[in-house]
Order: sequence, then C-alpha cells, then structure tokens
Amino acid sequence: MDATPFLPERINLRSLRTAAADCRGCDLHAPATQTVFGEGRKASRLMLVGEVPGDREDRAGRVFVGPAGRELDRALADAGIDRADAYVTNAVKHFKFEERGKRRIHQKPSRSEVKACLPWLRAELQVVAPEALVLLGATAAQALLGSTFRLTRERGRALDCALAPFVTATIHPSAILRARDDEERRELRETMVTDLRVVGKVKDAMS
Ligand code: SF4
Repeated sequence: MDATPFLPERINLRSLRTAAADCRGCDLHAPATQTVFGEGRKASRLMLVGEVPGDREDRAGRVFVGPAGRELDRALADAGIDRADAYVTNAVKHFKFEERGKRRIHQKPSRSEVKACLPWLRAELQVVAPEALVLLGATAAQALLGSTFRLTRERGRALDCALAPFVTATIHPSAILRARDDEERRELRETMVTDLRVVGKVKDAMS
C-alpha cells in the first residue's frame, strides 16, 4: 500500500494538494490532524525537502511553521535566500508522533512510511521541476537517493543524480534544536548556512 491510488489523474499543485488531503496510503493519516502538503509556486527554482511535519505544522496544516521552521528561515536569510522563492515540502505528509501526557512527541517515520508517501514527493518534483533541490536531513535524502546515502559524508556537496540540475543535502533544521549546548547549536547553524550559501550561488549562476 502506498499513496499511488490517491494521486489525481491530472497533476498540478492544486490537484495534488486537494487529493493528498484524502490520502490513506499508510497508517499515519489516522492520528494526525491533517495532511501537510508542500507550499510554494510552481515556478520556484529552488525546492527544499524536509522529513515530516511537526506538532505545529500538523495543527496549522502548513510546512515548517514551528521551531524547526524558524531555524530554517534564519539559515535561509543568513545564506541570502528568500524562502518565498522556494517550494518547501516534506518527504512524509502526515505528522508521526507518540503521546506523552498532553504532549505529542515527534517520531521518525519508518522506511515503509517514507516509501508509501514518495509518490507525492515525486509528483511535486515533476510539477515544480526545480533547478536546485536541497534535501534537509537524512530521511529526505535517503527517500530520494537510497538508503546507502550518508549525510555526514555527503552533505554540502553537489550530488550526482537526475532529480534536478543541482542537488545537495544538508542537516535538518531540527538538528539545531536538539543541540546539547550553545557551542554545538552555533556550529550546526553555521553548517547549514554554509551548505545553503552554495545553493544561493548556484541559483544566481543559473539566472
Ligand atoms: S503519510 Fe503520506 S502516504 Fe501516509 S497517509 Fe499521509 S500522505 Fe498518505
């Protein structure tokens, strides 16, 4: 079972978003509030792909609007990239969580859940056809590049694949939130900005 039977016949961002709202391609839809689909213009030249919506995103129905989104916005701004120029989405469209008292704690989606949701991401890639694709974190990178992809080894590099003219991977902004101390937080922020600056330069060179 995956999302394929739920894809619309005619594929565009509006039809995809509408159809994804009713996706039952895996079990994650049941406890979640709603599908959190990608946002941005079809003409976006940059596409950013994260892992899975968080608690805030699940409630708002919007991508990267919580604490990780604030880190992403900050890194993009520091790298000279306007988020409004990017199409932003996740590999998995429903929030996965574990309830602890009143709190809903983020859970990493399983490989089968990522695989089930992949038809949506592939359809978004087909419609947006970005010039630069940035995979935020190992889940997004492995979803599209295979399970042998190692973020620690390959982040910040131009990756050789046919998904877009320029493809790279960097850390997921939630890694910054999990930093043990200020020093590590600063280093992770720098890592992300350095990786995103390369994307900004490539994007400018393509204009
Ligand atoms: S996570 Fe993806 S495949 Fe699973 S129900 Fe949600 S949209 Fe469908």
